[in-house]
Amino acid sequence: MQIKKNDELIVDIIDLSYDGLGVAKIDGYPLFIENALPKERVKIHVLKVGKKFGFAKTIELLQQSSQRQTNYDQQLTRCGIAPLQHMQYEAQLAFKQKQVATTLQKVGHFTNIDVKQTIGMAQPFGYRNKAQVPVRRCQGELLTGFFRKNSHDFVPIDDYYIQDPVIDHVILQVRTILNRYKVTAYNETTHEGNLRHLIVRRGHYSGEIMVVLVTRKEKLFKAQDIAKEILAIDGVVSVMQNINDARTNVILGKKTQLLAGRDYITDTLLGNTYHISANSFYQVNTSQAEQLYQQAIELAQLDGTQTVIDAYCGIGTIALSVAKKAKWVYGVEVIEKAIDDAKNNARINQLNNTTFVAGKAEDVIIDWQKEGLQPDVVFVDPPRKGLDEKFIATLKQLNPQKIVYISCNPATFARDAALLEDKYQFNTIQPVDMFPQTTHVESVVLLTKVQK
Ligand code: SAH
Repeated sequence: MQIKKNDELIVDIIDLSYDGLGVAKIDGYPLFIENALPKERVKIHVLKVGKKFGFAKTIELLQQSSQRQTNYDQQLTRCGIAPLQHMQYEAQLAFKQKQVATTLQKVGHFTNIDVKQTIGMAQPFGYRNKAQVPVRRCQGELLTGFFRKNSHDFVPIDDYYIQDPVIDHVILQVRTILNRYKVTAYNETTHEGNLRHLIVRRGHYSGEIMVVLVTRKEKLFKAQDIAKEILAIDGVVSVMQNINDARTNVILGKKTQLLAGRDYITDTLLGNTYHISANSFYQVNTSQAEQLYQQAIELAQLDGTQTVIDAYCGIGTIALSVAKKAKWVYGVEVIEKAIDDAKNNARINQLNNTTFVAGKAEDVIIDWQKEGLQPDVVFVDPPRKGLDEKFIATLKQLNPQKIVYISCNPATFARDAALLEDKYQFNTIQPVDMFPQTTHVESVVLLTKVQK
């Protein structure tokens, strides 16, 4: 059967892709279908037909899966904010566990691994401590919302479901202020207008809020008055401006400046206090980050005598969480401002057995090796692209007893674990659900040195 764009057909869903799309096959030709679950029969509208596979969306549910969540907001699925929300939470956790197992097999040829049940949340929504929302002008008014998946069609949204509801509320309050001051919204087609994004971060335990206005131009008319009004919103302690003049999808520009209040918020994590500034990475799901770190710390089994490295350390959260149980901890991170935060955080928490260095992990680890550093345990928590090959080579030479790998991408973890396999092996992996309602999977693994 020859499938064409805009065809409408009835199909049976046989699988779920790694990005949460239902899979159906028509004479062997795979179609990836939004809002469809395995064992469902759906009527679809074909959106795109490629050489090897196509895309479609569900227009009618003819036979429903027992795993379907009945009460959900289609808009959020379309925007990609909550692509798994149509699936019951228990099924989401099982999906993530299976995905880790499949990826380990496919990418790393690891077969005999015990993939533990995904650690989930009791309340798997309203968890994000940070929002980054695009701003657009619609009928003379500045609106906040999100882009439709794979497009730049703007969809206004007030309730983001997975964000801290206080953050959703603050976005609306800030938007009202900005409309009153007639701040112009950025238009990416003409590269005109000023306000591009609103970023709001709120400390999970502290409740302290930072608002960042991402503008195209440095000049923001009545910036001081606007900032003063935003600072008066309940909980807001910091109002920042980031300037991004580039024609780009990247949200933040190079320059960030203080408009009102202070240039950081504080929060606590596993009992330590952290200062977090606008440009620093901070785990978006605080309570699950605590679960994840606790797992990682237990795997390391520190007793106060070990030398530890925390590579990709951000503002030092892992390093400082283990400092009391280690002889010395070295942290490395590429964002300088995050390292300033990490050093400051060490001071605030009086954890003085720590050294933090700004730079690329793959470069700094070579310096450390040359200086004769002999780590017992190395924590790695790299971004989605995983570890650099150079980093892996040096890590092997450093020869720690243990590597604790925290991964936000099972595919790059499997690749890296295969590269380490001659020297470091693992037999279990623990997925932790840091991003409920989305397809992202986080896991933590202990790699131990092979005894030869
Ligand atoms: N461990 C921290 C941060 C993890 S996110 C936490 O849990 O909060 C990954 C971090 O790696 C980010 O802070 C990012 O800025 C940093 N990073 C990305 N590429 C890097 C590189 N090549 N070298 C060092 N750090 C890098």
